[in-house]
Amino acid sequence: MDTKIIPAADETAVITAAVHLTSGNLVGLPTETVYGLGANGLNPEAVAKIFQVKGRPQDNPLILHIADPEQMELFCKDIPDSAYRLAEAFWPGPLTMVLPAKDIVPLSTRAGLPTVAVRCPDCEITRRIIRAASVPVAAPSANISGKPSTTTAQHVYHDHAGKIPLIVDGGACQVGVESTIVDLTEERPRLLRPGGITPEALIAVLGDLIIDKAVTAQIDKDEVVKAPGMKYRHYAPAEPVIIVSGSREKAAAYIHCHFEPGDRVLCFEEELPLYADCNPLSYGQEADVSTLSAGLFAALRELDDSSIGKVYARCPTGGGIAYAVQNRLQKAAAFHIVDAEVTA
Ligand code: AMP
Ligand code: MG
Repeated sequence: MDTKIIPAADETAVITAAVHLTSGNLVGLPTETVYGLGANGLNPEAVAKIFQVKGRPQDNPLILHIADPEQMELFCKDIPDSAYRLAEAFWPGPLTMVLPAKDIVPLSTRAGLPTVAVRCPDCEITRRIIRAASVPVAAPSANISGKPSTTTAQHVYHDHAGKIPLIVDGGACQVGVESTIVDLTEERPRLLRPGGITPEALIAVLGDLIIDKAVTAQIDKDEVVKAPGMKYRHYAPAEPVIIVSGSREKAAAYIHCHFEPGDRVLCFEEELPLYADCNPLSYGQEADVSTLSAGLFAALRELDDSSIGKVYARCPTGGGIAYAVQNRLQKAAAFHIVDAEVTA
């Protein structure tokens, strides 16, 4: 199969993508978070192709993307007031809500769960495509399962050339990490995945938030979890990643002491001079954490190379969007973290 990349500015992009979706084909789509691998979310055969092309485990449900916030009512039932307040505050935007599903949502889209994850993305071209197709678009991140997510059309092409007919090129994703996921099906709202909408912003609207264990710790393969995707290996390059926390000086001392030929350092732009002899790669500025979230996955993909030994990574601290960057890097590192303040 020939894989075509069509620029979002091309006047035929919307109709071409919509026709592929309604024909049951997969389309690589830009969003403000990461690129998605989209299919008609109401068509089980089309949805099955997503799992097949990505190599995604069948028990890992998809996010249903809608063009306008009101469409939430078409696919969800028993919607609590909190969902309307979150939609009002953050949609269109990088927030996914887990709600009780209506029967119209096929079981394959929600991996057999009674709930469905919905999001209205803040990406004009993709919302226009969803509107033109007149179906909600089920889309996980477009990367091959387990690998770092896709934040450019070229990343999608790299992973799926010859396997999907079309990728819409909307440029590099602004947020760069996947959406925040909040489960609203229990008594208290629960954060299943941090992202562009920060825990602080959620609490300001909800007044309450439980952080799910899957956010902060490695989940055992056999454990029953709220967010089925969270138990799988994620975002990981081919070689081991070790996060080195602590002050700039202590971390540099630790890394220089343990660095071996073939290893790499993933650091902040401000730290590049410290690692001149360690083949460093910067993923953004520590002083502007949004550049770190925007640059993380492209950097992890660049480091996805089995000839590399180990990657020593520096991770931002604190809340806000840094919390999402920590979560993705910790998962890429399988929670292997060394505190350079206490370890020499
Ligand atoms: P991805 O788009 O590849 O980042 O994957 C979507 C994420 O949404 C996965 O981690 C899923 O576990 C999560 N998700 C989707 N639907 C549900 C649901 N009904 N309940 C809990 N988590 C969900
Ligand atoms: Mg993903």
